Amino acid sequence: MSMPGLANMSDPSPLLVVEDLKVHFPIKAGTLVQRQVASVKAVDGVSFLLNRGETLGLVGESGCGKSTTGLAVLRMLDITAGRVVFDGEDITRHDRAAMRPIRKRMQMVYQDPYGSLNPRMKVVDLIAEPMIVHDLLPNRAARADRARELLALVGLRPDMADRYIHEFSGGQRQRIGVARALSMEPDLLICDEPVSALDVSIQAQIVNLFQDLQQSLGLTYIFVAHDLAVVRHISDRIAVMYLGRIAEIADRETLYRRPLHPYTQALLAAVPIPDPEIEATRPQIAVAGEVPSALNPPPGCRFHTRCPLAVARCRTEEPALRDVGAGQMVSCHLV
Ligand code: SF4
Repeated sequence: MSMPGLANMSDPSPLLVVEDLKVHFPIKAGTLVQRQVASVKAVDGVSFLLNRGETLGLVGESGCGKSTTGLAVLRMLDITAGRVVFDGEDITRHDRAAMRPIRKRMQMVYQDPYGSLNPRMKVVDLIAEPMIVHDLLPNRAARADRARELLALVGLRPDMADRYIHEFSGGQRQRIGVARALSMEPDLLICDEPVSALDVSIQAQIVNLFQDLQQSLGLTYIFVAHDLAVVRHISDRIAVMYLGRIAEIADRETLYRRPLHPYTQALLAAVPIPDPEIEATRPQIAVAGEVPSALNPPPGCRFHTRCPLAVARCRTEEPALRDVGAGQMVSCHLV
C-alpha cells in the first residue's frame, strides 16, 4: 500500500489506516433542476494510521475538518475519495448492512452527551439501548446488570442507573456517554471534543478516566480537540489540521518540544507549558484572522493568508507533507 509514511509505521497491523481521505459536500443551485455548482472541501487529502492501544490527537480550529474526519472514519458520512481500512478491512464503500458488525467496534463519544441522549429514558436504558440495537445481550435483566457494571467502570455508583440524565452534572453526563459507548465493547473510540464543554477542573478528571479505561480495556482513541492543551496528556501522537489537511503530525514530545509548522507554533503559543526550558525557547508566533472558507481554499499553501512567514512561493505551490525525521511530518516550504 502506498501512503505517506506517517509516524510509527512499524506496527505490521495497525487498527486503522486512513489514506488520502477526501470528504467534499456538494453545493447545489437551480430552481427547477438542481446542479452542483461547487463543493465544500471539508477534508481534502488526509492520511494517518493508528496502532492498537494508541491515542491520536486531532487538533485544529473550528472548520479544519477534524470532526468530519472522525465521522468519515465511522462511515457516518460518505467518503468522496481515498480509503479507510479498519482492522485490515477496507470499509470505504461499505453500505449500512456491511458496516453493522464494524460499527459495534468503533464508537463515538460526543462533546455534549446531554444533547445526544434521550432525556426521557433512565440511565440504565440509555446504556442498554445500543446493546438492544446490536443484539448484544437478549435478556433485559442481563442488560441492566451490564449497565450497572459499566457505571461502576466509569466511576459512577451502580444505583444511579435508575435516575434521569438531567439529574447529573456535566462531568457525570460525560461518564454516562462513555459508559454507553463502552456497552458495545469497542476497539476504537472517536472522542469528539469530549471535555471542551466541561469546567477545567472536571476536564482533567475525564481525561484521566479515558486514560484509565485505555489501560484496563486496551482501547484505541482518536481524540478530537480545538486546542493543544487538552490533548497533551492523553495523546501518543498529534496531527494538527488546517483547512481539511494535515499541517504537521508528530509524536507528542516532538510536537511540543520542536513544533516546525508555523500553524502548530501559533497554536502552541496560546498554551502555557509548565516546563520553563521549553517555555523560554519555543517560537512565539501569532496568527490573526479567521480560517478561510473550505468552499474556496486559498491556492498554494492553504495557510499562506495567515502565515507570518509566507514567501511568494507559498501563494502558488502547495507544500507536500514531508518526513523530516523521527516520524515528524510537516507541510511547509520553509522546513
Ligand atoms: Fe507559511 Fe509558506 Fe510554510 Fe505555508 S508553506 S506554512 S505559508 S511558510
